Amino acid sequence: MHAQSKPPIAQVVDLVKNYYLESVTVRALRGVSLDFAEGDFVALMGPSGSGKSTLLNLLGCLDRPTTGDYYLGEENVASMDDDQLSEVRSRYIGFIFQSYNLLAQYTVVENVEIPLLYQGAKLNAQTRQRCIDLASLVGLGDRLDHRPMQLSGGQQQRVAIARALVNDPHVILADEPTGNLDSKTSDEIMQLLTQLNKAGKTIIMVTHENDIAAWARRVVRMRDGHIESDVRNDPPRKAPRPDEAIEELPEVIPADGPCSPDGVRGAEGGRI
Ligand code: ADP
Repeated sequence: MHAQSKPPIAQVVDLVKNYYLESVTVRALRGVSLDFAEGDFVALMGPSGSGKSTLLNLLGCLDRPTTGDYYLGEENVASMDDDQLSEVRSRYIGFIFQSYNLLAQYTVVENVEIPLLYQGAKLNAQTRQRCIDLASLVGLGDRLDHRPMQLSGGQQQRVAIARALVNDPHVILADEPTGNLDSKTSDEIMQLLTQLNKAGKTIIMVTHENDIAAWARRVVRMRDGHIESDVRNDPPRKAPRPDEAIEELPEVIPADGPCSPDGVRGAEGGRI
């Protein structure tokens, strides 16, 4: 085992997930153990049915494993009840989906604000400014009042990325983030995710495409509910040019909502 200066930001240990249908048990995950280092960018690959979505759902606290452990920060999330899971999810996980999942009636800025509403934060001028800053960061500073239908697919995915950042999550989970985009727009979105990763964000992304996985720092391949391989991409594809690098993400305004659960904190007790 390699000596690590920091504990992993997320860790799954011997994760098993069975789905019980009428007469059969589907063994979707058959004992998966993985560590995710802070600041890593991981592509999860594998054939259809290999367990990628099941693993992403567990990492996103959308479901619980049948057996095994999931440590997010220092807390074992695997033993949490539904309320605790949704609290952890809304505060510590950012989601990006293939189909963007924006609310059609809301503007760009309002869509970015949504996770703050879910976590019970009071919206005010400061939170609004943070959402404007994030929309600007992803290149939508001149589209703040547009609604999703008035945006291209790539622009809608940029809104979803800004929304995923609004809670300053531990981990950004992306489920085929470029699956609905043409190759040029896919490259732009991957460039943006790479910039965010270089600014310190941990990203775990499911993809079917080798071209997309090539942007990640690490590629984990699954098969039949197992980890088949786990290799580092050295170097990852097309690092952003220096003039495009994001030096710093907009400062997070402390949420004015309920207290965060103990344990889901940085090693020094600070915000991650
Ligand atoms: P992938 O994302 O790699 O395509 P999944 O995680 O979706 O794989 O599926 C892994 C296995 O679990 C498959 O055999 C799939 O049919 C099964 N599965 C996934 N979700 C469910 C569910 N809700 N109920 C029953 N079986 C499921």
